[in-house]
Amino acid sequence: MNHKRPPVIAGNWKMNGTSEMVRQFSESILNNVWDENLKQCEIIVCPPAPLIPLFCENASQAAFVVGGQDCHSSESGAYTGDVSALMLKDVGCNSVIVGHSERRISYNEINSTVKLKASAAKKAGLTAIVCVGETQDQKNDGETVEIVTTQVLESIPESASDIDTMIAYEPIWAIGTGKIPKINEIANVHNAIRGAVAKSKGAEVAERIRILYGGSVKPDNVAEILSIDDVDGALVGGASLSSNDFWSLCTNAAKLFAMLSRKV
Ligand code: PEP
Repeated sequence: MNHKRPPVIAGNWKMNGTSEMVRQFSESILNNVWDENLKQCEIIVCPPAPLIPLFCENASQAAFVVGGQDCHSSESGAYTGDVSALMLKDVGCNSVIVGHSERRISYNEINSTVKLKASAAKKAGLTAIVCVGETQDQKNDGETVEIVTTQVLESIPESASDIDTMIAYEPIWAIGTGKIPKINEIANVHNAIRGAVAKSKGAEVAERIRILYGGSVKPDNVAEILSIDDVDGALVGGASLSSNDFWSLCTNAAKLFAMLSRKV
């Protein structure tokens, strides 16, 4: 974490949740001990599409903003079951996850698909959270940096900037498994991602763009992971479903950022 880049904690509910859970989640914020430090953190909750309007209503009085989990690359049309970036913006989202490994795997999304979605997000005024990450086999073969930097370069739009784009490094083998890479491995990949962004978008964008880590982040490991220089936040799956876990994770991240900011 770097004091110049405010941390982001993004919760991805995936295909989980009910309207009752949204209400409980929103109440939990108001009932929890309120930490001033949290205001320094950008907290994004990405519920399933049908719950977004309810989340947005509650977000207006709370400390988080709302994001989508995916969007189509077109603004509208005959795409049964899909949701456009424009629609997400229209109902109150400020961001959208694109290229999550579950979509890359289950829906055969490749880098060029992800790039089109990220471009649509930017056009609609949303921040795209572009996910990249290697499989266990690719890691075992020592291909992590090459795979991940190629994904970054091919998945983010030409005109992407730190304002409209974040990158989430999510090793596929770490998602939902309780396994995480070694701290020096995460540091190495994040550093390589920032280097790739510098080459393609220039040093200034690279210095400011937020690069999140995702994969089995929990309240008790978030501080260690976010202590890494080039890690600017976390994309959180499982732990975002429990409001207690999610808010303690956010509070731990915010405390760390406050400490860092005081040191400079
Ligand atoms: C995810 O799916 O993006 C994720 C990081 O999940 P988890 O935190 O459960 O590993």
